[in-house]
Amino acid sequence: MNTDNNKSEKQVKTWICSVCGYQHVGPEPPKKCPKCGVDAIYFDAVDSE
Ligand SMILES: [Zn+2]
Repeated sequence: MNTDNNKSEKQVKTWICSVCGYQHVGPEPPKKCPKCGVDAIYFDAVDSE
């Protein structure tokens, strides 16, 4: 078993703005929603598999 899993392999997720519903796909949410301008904390991550 290899527990040395220290590589920064980021998962791609779908981020949905909880304010306006804007969808963003990537490892991280956008700093600000390009549609309504709220901060990244308003984005909910959805695992896309
Ligand atoms: Zn938004």
